[in-house]
Amino acid sequence: MGELQMKATLRRLKISIYGAVQGVGFRPFIYRLARRFDVSGFVMNTGAGVTIEVEGSEKTLEKLLLAIEPEQPPQSHIYSLEYSYLDPVGYQAFEVRTSVNSEDKSAVMLPDIAPCAECLEEVFDPKNRRYRYPFTNCTNCGPRFSIIKALPYDRANTSMGSFHMCEQCQHEYDDPENRRFHAQPNACPCCGPHIEFWDCTTRKISEEDKALRDICEAIRNGKIVAIKGIGGFHIVVDAGNEDAIKQLRERKHREEKPFAVLFPDLSTVQKQVDLDEIEKRSLVSSEAPIVLLRRKSFHDRIAPNVAPNNPYLGILLPFSPLHHLLMHELHFPVVATSGNLSNDPICKTEEQAKSALGSIVDYFLVHDRPIINRSDDSIVRVIERREMVLRRSRGYAPLPVQLDQALPDCVAVGGHLKNTFALAKNNRVFISQHNGDLETKESINAFSDNLNLFCSLYQNSPKSVLCDLHPDYYSTRFAKKMGVPVIQVQHHYAHALSCMAENSLNPPTLSVVWDGTGWGLDETIWGGEFLKITRAGFKRFAHMRPFPLLGGEKAIREPRRSAMGLLFEIFGSSVFSYTHLKLLHCFSGEELSIFQTMLERHLNSPYCSSVGRLFDAASALICQRERISFEGQAAMELEFLTSETQNDNRYDFSVREKDGAFVIDWEPIFKGLTDDSIRGAAPALMSVLFHNTLADIVVAIAQKASEEAVVLSGGCFQNKYLLEKTIVRLKKEGYRPYWHQRIPTNDGGIALGQMTAATMG
Ligand code: ZN
Ligand code: ZN
Ligand code: FE
Repeated sequence: MGELQMKATLRRLKISIYGAVQGVGFRPFIYRLARRFDVSGFVMNTGAGVTIEVEGSEKTLEKLLLAIEPEQPPQSHIYSLEYSYLDPVGYQAFEVRTSVNSEDKSAVMLPDIAPCAECLEEVFDPKNRRYRYPFTNCTNCGPRFSIIKALPYDRANTSMGSFHMCEQCQHEYDDPENRRFHAQPNACPCCGPHIEFWDCTTRKISEEDKALRDICEAIRNGKIVAIKGIGGFHIVVDAGNEDAIKQLRERKHREEKPFAVLFPDLSTVQKQVDLDEIEKRSLVSSEAPIVLLRRKSFHDRIAPNVAPNNPYLGILLPFSPLHHLLMHELHFPVVATSGNLSNDPICKTEEQAKSALGSIVDYFLVHDRPIINRSDDSIVRVIERREMVLRRSRGYAPLPVQLDQALPDCVAVGGHLKNTFALAKNNRVFISQHNGDLETKESINAFSDNLNLFCSLYQNSPKSVLCDLHPDYYSTRFAKKMGVPVIQVQHHYAHALSCMAENSLNPPTLSVVWDGTGWGLDETIWGGEFLKITRAGFKRFAHMRPFPLLGGEKAIREPRRSAMGLLFEIFGSSVFSYTHLKLLHCFSGEELSIFQTMLERHLNSPYCSSVGRLFDAASALICQRERISFEGQAAMELEFLTSETQNDNRYDFSVREKDGAFVIDWEPIFKGLTDDSIRGAAPALMSVLFHNTLADIVVAIAQKASEEAVVLSGGCFQNKYLLEKTIVRLKKEGYRPYWHQRIPTNDGGIALGQMTAATMG
């Protein structure tokens, strides 16, 4: 291999580990690994863990990464391991560096950690005093973030403060040789929290071990139950019981959105889904997130209505001793979905659960250890053999993301949907857990409670606040009331900067940001953007041709409206007489005449350039998708179709210049789709061609922009086929594509981008 080629394939892998990894031979262990794999870089202690950077080929780096957890020194414990692949900086050798930053160890607030092997052994050992005790923990595992009220992290500052340790527990706690030395949530059956089994009116039926057996019996009998876990309540039901799941969907008014499934152990998972080494690592990691995994077939133990028409399953493994005990007893997969009403945050108290879930579930399993800070399950997906975090919550929050550059002391309040906010301290960004969509009282309360907590935990009194440009977002209005200077950051610019920040990427870049909607500089709806980013800010280099969104917001729930608006833009009023067009059959006669008037007179039909809405329009033409019941459903359906066929062709498109920006005209694409739909072409083929065209559009605009670095951000890039195809096409043409790894590509990543804007010109 030539030197140039070598350089092109060289990557830098950055690994941030938190845990008991100091003074246990961890750095020498990493040094030996680096020697074994012949990579350069460094390992360094940080306040509460180590940071590792290594350079080599991506394959070698992956092998090193996968060796860390299984081969770590016996005395070490990893609480959290996050990694990202970055551009190489040219390390010559591998060295053990002395720590440069003196981060205060006590100031690091850890997330909740899945039970360690030793604790699990005790829980399943009939001779141990913690046999079948659901709240077993030690210094290496157990609840942290979910129980803390204030720093320092002492028992009195947690929701364990009201439990007085028994003599034996106190002895463990005081003994420096003991695994439970200063384990703040230390507890046992004599002195710690207990579980109770309640009926749906919250009347107690049983407690302790009987409660555990009763809840399992209820699940076996097809009952719907709510279980209080680590960061909130889950609704649980047998994943193989189609009738019970149907009932849950009816009661929760959740028509088709897929449910996550909790499996008993890795071997049961492997029977149902295809799993590579990277996916397996994510699944068994201490963060214990939901991992989106491809099913082997639909003829599995999972009822079809768990994830209707979905080739993927969101799977997680037990993440607390309680869940281990439950799953050990049941030994079959169960649906485990957030205990909330639609887009509200997850319920954390018995009271909330009673009022929100009382009419949904038959029974409750509760306990008397209060949840102080709620967190939903995190969600990850593996793309191009890298973990991509789609929702950063339990297991990740509130750990910081470490950046190469220092950020100003400020707070960024994020966007509107999938809200998270962020606080910066030097080069660390503390990103909040998922706060939900800021549309209900509950979400808004969660948002402000969490913000207050973060500010006090990290002793941050923000000097300025960053928010979205959208005047009507709750977060924008909140920011304006904070009484400190406000910086408003355009939505898609924030998406792009967030992706650049986590990839340690400096301007200039061409940033492709495709999502549902965001407020544009010209006060129209953007979402199909190509931004040229320089030190001085951004320029809208190119965008999709705008089209009318029939009925505005309403179009988000009805892809048929996007399709109608778009076809009207192409064909004008004559589209209403194309009786051979299947799309017209999606509307009643009355609707058609109303919609024709609306479009002709430009009534309540704002123009948008959103790629999310282009996906909707395509799905209405390809799959006759009239309405959706959850966000992203239409695009997901189109993505799933791509696995049914292989084809490298695409539709036509054209690019023209208007007012100093390139406009991508999708008219030939949608004429192609319309013709194909009339001809009765296979939906799978149409979907593949549609995706391929979008990837080629990125390449075409990259060629006009002539920036080597091409950033891919926005919710549309949660689509694996689209993202991978675009990456492959860009690489083939000599560009360097960058996409999200640790930070969500959806609006959950907006806060980091807003914050980064403060460092730009
Ligand atoms: Zn433990
Ligand atoms: Zn005790
Ligand atoms: Fe967005």
